[in-house]
This record gives sequence, C-alpha cells and structure tokens, in this order.
Amino acid sequence: MENNYAETKTSAKPILLNTQVIIIGAGPAGAGTSIFLTKAGISHVVIEKENFPRDKICGDACSGKTVFVLRKANSLWPEEIFKNTYDYMPCHGVTFVSPNAKVLNIPFSPAKIVEGQAPGFITPRLIFDNFLFQKLASPYASIYQKAMVKSIERQVDGKVSVTFLQGDKTYQVTAPLIVGADGDKSQVRKTFLSSHTSQKTYCVGLRAYYHGVTGLHENHFIELHFLPELLPGYLWIFPLPNGITNVGIGMMSDKIRKKKINLREEMLNAIKENPNISHRFSHAKLLDKIQGWGLPMCMNRQPLSGNNFLLTGDAAGIIDPFTGEGIGNALYSGMLAAFAIEDSLKSGKYDATYIKEKYDDVFFKQIGNELKTSATLQRLSHYPRLFNFVVEKAHKSKTLNNTITSMFTGIDLRRQLRKPSFYAKILLNR
Ligand SMILES: Cc1cc2nc3c(=O)[nH]c(=O)nc-3n(C[C@H](O)[C@H](O)[C@H](O)COP(=O)(O)OP(=O)(O)OC[C@H]3O[C@@H](n4cnc5c(N)ncnc54)[C@H](O)[C@@H]3O)c2cc1C
Repeated sequence: MENNYAETKTSAKPILLNTQVIIIGAGPAGAGTSIFLTKAGISHVVIEKENFPRDKICGDACSGKTVFVLRKANSLWPEEIFKNTYDYMPCHGVTFVSPNAKVLNIPFSPAKIVEGQAPGFITPRLIFDNFLFQKLASPYASIYQKAMVKSIERQVDGKVSVTFLQGDKTYQVTAPLIVGADGDKSQVRKTFLSSHTSQKTYCVGLRAYYHGVTGLHENHFIELHFLPELLPGYLWIFPLPNGITNVGIGMMSDKIRKKKINLREEMLNAIKENPNISHRFSHAKLLDKIQGWGLPMCMNRQPLSGNNFLLTGDAAGIIDPFTGEGIGNALYSGMLAAFAIEDSLKSGKYDATYIKEKYDDVFFKQIGNELKTSATLQRLSHYPRLFNFVVEKAHKSKTLNNTITSMFTGIDLRRQLRKPSFYAKILLNR
C-alpha cells in the first residue's frame, strides 16, 4: 500500500511527519478507527508491525456486532462477505452444552436477518483481517506495515510523537491524538495507562484447526461446551468452510495458575475422552499446531482513554467475558473512537475529561450493560449447578433464550435489560 504523505527527508535524522491522528495496530480495532476517520475526512497515520495478510489466534467467529459495524461503514461489505462462500461460513445460531451435558440449541431470531444475510459468520482471521486491511486505502490514511515502534513520547505542548522504523528508514510522526489499537500487549496502554495494566482480567485461549469433525449443526451453529472440568471456561467447536473447524478452549488465567492446569492436555483429553465429543473426532485430522494467546476481558468498567489518547479493542481490555467476543467489540470501539476524535478535533479539546465524556461514557452507555450481564454469567459458570439451572431455564423461558442470542446477534440488549418486565418474564418461564 502506498504512503500518500508529504515527507521531509534529512539523511541522518528521522523523516518528520505531522498528522491529525496516529493509530498503532491495524487489526479490527485499528481498521475500525481508520475506516470511520476516513469517512469523516480526517488524516491519519496507521503503524502496523506485521505484513498483511497476517494470522491472529482466535475462534474466528464474528457476531452481529461485527456485521452491524461493517454495514454502517459500507452497506455493500456484508454482501461482499456473504457472497464469498469459499472463505466465509454464515452462522445461524448457537449451541450451549451445559455441565450436565444438556444441549440447548438457540437459532438466531429471524428478526436479526437483514437482506437475507445470516446474523453472523465464521472465517479465518487471516482472511477477515486482510479483508478489513484492504478497505483502509484512502487519501486520508497513510499506512506503514512492517514498522517497528521505537518510542512513544508526549511533547511539551501535549501532542504525541511516535518514532518508528520501516526498512532502513526512521520516521517520527506527531499528532494531537493517538489511538492504541495494538492488541493485548499494547505499547500505547503501557505508556499512558501503566497503573491500570495489571487490572486486566485474563482468560487464556488455545486454537486448533481440524478437518473432518462430524455432527455439526446443519445451520452452522457455533458450539460452546461448558465441560465440568473446564469451568469457568469452555471448549468451542466453530464450523468453517471446506470441512474445517476451529476448535479451541478458553479458561481463566487465575484458575490455570492456581490449579497448575496444562490447557493443551485438557483440550486433547476432552477431544479424546469426553463421551459427548470424542466420537465426533474419530476421523478428524489436526491441520496445524495448537496455538495460544490471552483474552483481556471486561469484568468491570476501566478507563479507555486519557489526555491525548484513546484505547480500542484488546488494548482497552474489552472482550466480552462470557461469549469471548472481541472482534465485534474491537470494531465497535474503533468506530466510537473515530466519532469521539471527530468531536475532539472540531473543538480542539484533547484533555482526559473531554475524551472520557465523548468516548468512554458513550461506549459504556451503549454496551456496558451487555458486558455486565456477561460478567454475571461468567461468574455464574464457576458454579456448575447454578449454570445448569440457567440453561434449564433458557429451555423454558423465551425471554432468557432471546437474551442469550442477543449477546451474539444484537447491540440492543441494553434496552431489554432496562425493563423490569424482562426479569419478571424470566421468573415466570415466559
Ligand atoms: C484463543 C482466542 C480465541 C478467540 N476467539 C474469538 C472469537 O471467536 N470471536 C471473537 O469475536 N473474538 C475472539 N477472540 C478475541 C479476538 O481475537 C480479539 O479480541 C481481537 O483480535 C481484538 O482485535 P484488536 O484489533 O484489538 O487486536 P489484534 O487483533 O490483536 O490486532 C492488533 C494489531 O496490532 C498490531 N501491533 C501490536 N503491537 C504493535 C506495535 N507495537 N506496533 C505496531 N503494531 C502492533 C498487531 O500486529 C495486530 O495486527 C479470541 C481470542 C483468542 C486469544
């Protein structure tokens, strides 16, 4: 991709760039920010350490929130995705298997189907992140791939400067605002929010690609198996095109540490020994190595911004603590960050109080309740009996059933949770 930027080059010194916004990282969070900044006509520099297409360890499941943001960015993009059946698997529901092996199949509501498209999809991140990355090209975006950040510094006037290397060139870019979209180990977060870094709640996940897993739902439901030995974590089986499945396991890091659990062994044991799962893998072939990565989850509200900076996606630690959804939240936070930046640049205000009001408060107003519900369900999954009870209840209560699907398909859960009638209906099994 071309760097469409006016550069001032001096031989020994860094090449100096000035822009309105610096984004570090071009995953879903950085791409979401860049796409909406471009829509607002705001110049920005994107610095990415990898070269696209690049892989990201993930379950590869994209929810209704992802589709919502894509549609808002460009109404034709979901169509482009769903047309490509070679790479993208449309998803029509979710299967929960409770600790007592009770199976709950919840099809996504037909109301969530827009223009005949499924509410969600599953695709390897190698494909999806590259799809997003290709959409960044614009006269407003200067993109530097394979770029290594050397330092992030605040200038005396409050602006932020990032020095980075690309090939044999050194650059120094300065802007009034920086967006940390640099994932779980965010350098931007460490620079500006170091005192909060340790508060992130972690889950650790392993991902494996298999060919030939049988017994998948005909409408490509994603499967979450809450096996008693894994609580409060789960094993997932997500269908991909071409007979491939993404199989993985996620567990809270404090439990792994405390009980000295070998996650890889737990996963392979479940696949080999669990009577409800093992027969489905009898002819399956592991395609690649099993790889792991951390999931920074949002159990409580935490700061997402401060003077001259905003954090998005995993850098902000906003993965849904029950569903494990991070892609949709990354894209959504990127979009809201771009809206907040637009206001900031218009008013010339870059201070923490202003940005918090425009970004953090809006984010938590829109999906804070959803995250709170997920945190409650996550805590509940520590207690198998209670968890069995909720799944049992979901069999009988259409309202609870809808709540669970809303977590995967909608962004309107907040409205439901505000109504007292919602809780009454669950109690009355309605
Ligand atoms: C095992 C596992 C399973 C998961 N399953 C799902 C799932 O099924 N569905 C779902 O929605 N979510 C899932 N998640 C969560 C999801 O993967 C993340 O929430 C999502 O990738 C966050 O997007 P992001 O853009 O914030 O970060 P990332 O996708 O990590 O992107 C960050 C980008 O920043 C770049 N970068 C990092 N540091 C620097 C630097 N210093 N300089 C320049 N660039 C840098 C990286 O190269 C990368 O391209 C899963 C996570 C794990 C670990």
